[in-house]
Amino acid sequence: MTDPNCIFCKIARGEIPAKKIFEDDDVMAFHDIRPQAPVHFLLVPKEHLATLYEAQPAHQQALGKMLAVAGRLAREAGAGEGFRTIINTGRVGHQEVYHVHMHVLGGPEPLGPMLQRRK
Ligand code: 5GP
Ligand code: ZN
Repeated sequence: MTDPNCIFCKIARGEIPAKKIFEDDDVMAFHDIRPQAPVHFLLVPKEHLATLYEAQPAHQQALGKMLAVAGRLAREAGAGEGFRTIINTGRVGHQEVYHVHMHVLGGPEPLGPMLQRRK
């Protein structure tokens, strides 16, 4: 369950470098290459999964673990007073990389509003 052309599969296989902060059998965490906050890392399932639309019960362990380890990793990365998790899906969600990933974004300063309010 790996896609030879997928950039996050390549990172999970160690074929291209990333600033890895956590890895176990199910998930991997690494710093985003274009950070949008002082703390900005990504948590991904090691198995290829293009979007949340394709998620099945078999993915529960990896998807659940992404949430279960986010707080500890955020604290260790310097976001001890709060953080935001985002999973972008598809065109409407502005997903750029089609391997499910959860952004973890943190301060120290409070982040901006989640979405621009519609007028
Ligand atoms: P999306 O818009 O799909 O939710 O976000 C994709 C994220 O992946 C972006 O924040 C982008 O900076 C990050 N990204 C894209 N390519 C790479 C890469 O090769 N290495 C790392 N570490 N992050 C990447
Ligand atoms: Zn992949």
